[in-house]
Amino acid sequence: MSPGCCSKGRRAVGVVCRDAGGEREVRATREVLLSAGALLTPQLLMLSGIGPGEHLQSLGLPVLFDQPGVGANLHDHIDVVQMFDSPGNHDLFGLSLPGMVRAVKGIFEWRRERRGMLTTNFAEAGGFIRSRPEEPIPDLQLHFVIGKLVDHGRKTQFGPGFSCHVCLLRPLSRGSVRLASPDPMASPLIDPNFLAERDDVDRMVRGFKLMRSILHAPALAPYRGRELGTAAVVTDGQIETFIRDHADTIYHPVGSCRMGPASTDVVDAHLRVRGVSGLRVVDASIMPRIVGGNTNAPVIMLAERAVDFIREDTAAQRAAA
Ligand SMILES: Cc1cc2nc3c(=O)[nH]c(=O)nc-3n(C[C@H](O)[C@H](O)[C@H](O)COP(=O)(O)OP(=O)(O)OC[C@H]3O[C@@H](n4cnc5c(N)ncnc54)[C@H](O)[C@@H]3O)c2cc1C
Repeated sequence: MSPGCCSKGRRAVGVVCRDAGGEREVRATREVLLSAGALLTPQLLMLSGIGPGEHLQSLGLPVLFDQPGVGANLHDHIDVVQMFDSPGNHDLFGLSLPGMVRAVKGIFEWRRERRGMLTTNFAEAGGFIRSRPEEPIPDLQLHFVIGKLVDHGRKTQFGPGFSCHVCLLRPLSRGSVRLASPDPMASPLIDPNFLAERDDVDRMVRGFKLMRSILHAPALAPYRGRELGTAAVVTDGQIETFIRDHADTIYHPVGSCRMGPASTDVVDAHLRVRGVSGLRVVDASIMPRIVGGNTNAPVIMLAERAVDFIREDTAAQRAAA
């Protein structure tokens, strides 16, 4: 027994948990809802024997239901950042003595008036744009951040500045989640397979150039210093290389337990896992295609719909009994 869903034949009857007290089984009265997100729900399904049969067998795991769709179709909004130093004393973030003085003043301002510099959400502005005029709807999203952002904020930046992200809203590239090991404590193998499709690359290159033209707008001149890291990235080839070297997730993985009508779609229209009963997936992994915007609210919406489905299905089961 290892963490994952526990089953009786083809019916999910509970989950196996591991905590400080060791392993224990928690039984479900009605059904099991799996909501571990697009990267970890497929891991839990595979650990429970639901996934690509050959892959599970290669790790010595029993195959309860051979489902190649588990862990397939992973996709995400790939994103690349441009950033600038900022001269002067603007309300922009970045480690500096004047910045720290402003931040301390900001604490008092916030406590006194509930306003000021510290009330920022950092991503102060954004927009949806078309990478070409002929696009019917925006295919790119911008997030404007009032600080310099390198490696997801892991690297401290000195001095004030600003950054902008551009991400691709409807990528064609598809990646996967696979198990690295049957050990549930091991991280899964996540391959986003970003930029596998030429169309994704071309849209990102156009987006990078559009973002740069916006960031060089006259209105930003008082705030704009040196372009950091990308000043020499000029030709389409250089931009593509930069994107391939630096683009990364903007944290919206979806699709790895896709909903749909086909036998290889992991869940049906009521989010029930095919091939077993008593098991639903309720998280971003069920999105067949990523939404053209941020994912949090759509995930909350799909959870609300799941509540309706559970009520409907329970009522139908009771009526049939
Ligand atoms: C840094 C960051 C910033 C983001 N910013 C935004 C934003 O500004 N706007 C927006 O719309 N979206 C944003 N998102 C995306 C948004 O948070 C996700 O799309 C959304 O939370 C996905 O919901 P979910 O239920 O699928 O997964 P999650 O919210 O990831 O929930 C999965 C849960 O399962 C738990 N879990 C996983 N495995 C196990 C296990 N084995 N045992 C027990 N628990 C487990 C996890 O701890 C987690 O709590 C951001 C995401 C990140 C990471």
